[in-house]
Amino acid sequence: MKKFDVAIAGGGVIGGAIAMELARAGLRVGVFDRQQPGQEASWASAGILSPAPENPGMIAMVEMGKASFARYPEFVAQVEEISGKSTGFRPKGTLEALFSHDTKAELSTIIAVHHGLGLKAEPLRAEDARELEPALSEEVEAAVLRPQEASIDNRALTAAVLEGALRSGAAIFPGNGARAVWREGNRCKGLVLQNEKIEAQWTIIAAGCFSAAIEGVAPYAPVRPAKGQMAALRADDLKIERVLWSEKIYLVPRNDGRILAGATVEHVGFDKRVTAGGIEKILSAAIELAPGLKDARIEETWAGLRPDTPDHMPILGPTDIDGLLMATGHFRSGILLAPITARLVREWITEQRVGVDWERFSPLRFQSAATDATRHAPA
Ligand SMILES: Cc1cc2nc3c(=O)[nH]c(=O)nc-3n(C[C@H](O)[C@H](O)[C@H](O)COP(=O)(O)OP(=O)(O)OC[C@H]3O[C@@H](n4cnc5c(N)ncnc54)[C@H](O)[C@@H]3O)c2cc1C
Repeated sequence: MKKFDVAIAGGGVIGGAIAMELARAGLRVGVFDRQQPGQEASWASAGILSPAPENPGMIAMVEMGKASFARYPEFVAQVEEISGKSTGFRPKGTLEALFSHDTKAELSTIIAVHHGLGLKAEPLRAEDARELEPALSEEVEAAVLRPQEASIDNRALTAAVLEGALRSGAAIFPGNGARAVWREGNRCKGLVLQNEKIEAQWTIIAAGCFSAAIEGVAPYAPVRPAKGQMAALRADDLKIERVLWSEKIYLVPRNDGRILAGATVEHVGFDKRVTAGGIEKILSAAIELAPGLKDARIEETWAGLRPDTPDHMPILGPTDIDGLLMATGHFRSGILLAPITARLVREWITEQRVGVDWERFSPLRFQSAATDATRHAPA
């Protein structure tokens, strides 16, 4: 029987980052993936690194996003050095374009919310925004510049993180997925794979939107897939420097000249088909934001499955079973949150305490919700 200090189910950016961090701390780490690692959400993502909340419901995640974002330059330097691979990190800021006719009120609200959360944001007049980003539509009425935000080539990052984990001493087992958590009484003894058991002192579930399908995981991580369709465009005469946002779309420039446009958010199960309706929505919003894109070539379209959760917050930390931890449910922010997730897991395992406020992300929160519902249910 294979034995490790730590067995990780799932080799996306989250499982990979945790494996690298723990292997560097001197632990014997095994990563088990049901297929070639790094081919799911971490591959399909847009790679925007923004701790700003997309809606009021996400405000609770801002502090964790800021903590992870602050670690990014060091994380990238470390991953690139260890793996010998580039990650396409672009710390060039993001610009959110506003189209409404009441932009004055909208702008001051957005700026006040950002400043209240300790996030840098500057109001821009339309002409100043177009001076920075000439591709922007003439219809844009105003904009918000978030100069400290960034993006990264998530496919390159995930490949580099997995290589970094290997070179740091972790073992990676492709095509060897987990069927169940191996539990004896209140102790997790490792993972049950298709044909064997893996013994580990610590077991970490990091299988993205597939986590709940591993027997024994659903009560802690009731994740479900949220499909996102994307398109990659290339335009010879149009340059975009920063990540551009509108209410309907984001455009993410890559170092190789591609411009990513995305993304839909669809709860349609484990379906990764690209649809005409999805791509139509993306392309029309992209052309509305940057009209020059109407002549762009479509280089690639794809869809991926985000790990969504009932409250859209990640699920991080120890469960009430000894040795079993969750690191999943990162929904729309898993690339941003990879460095802090890896650090938290290392702290739990090596120090049994963590340096940031994580309790609202605890895997036990769904059980107390279920207990409360039972308690309040009519007899
Ligand atoms: C279209 C789109 C755009 C996005 N944009 C952004 C963005 O701009 N910024 C951002 O921060 N985040 C973004 N995200 C979210 C981000 O990509 C995810 O939160 C993150 O990739 C989740 O990483 P993960 O490692 O948990 O999951 P995944 O990358 O899905 O990896 C899970 C791994 O587990 C494996 N697995 C499955 N079942 C098992 C099993 N039974 N046993 C073992 N292994 C198993 C899979 O094969 C896979 O390799 C986006 C996602 C999508 C889809």
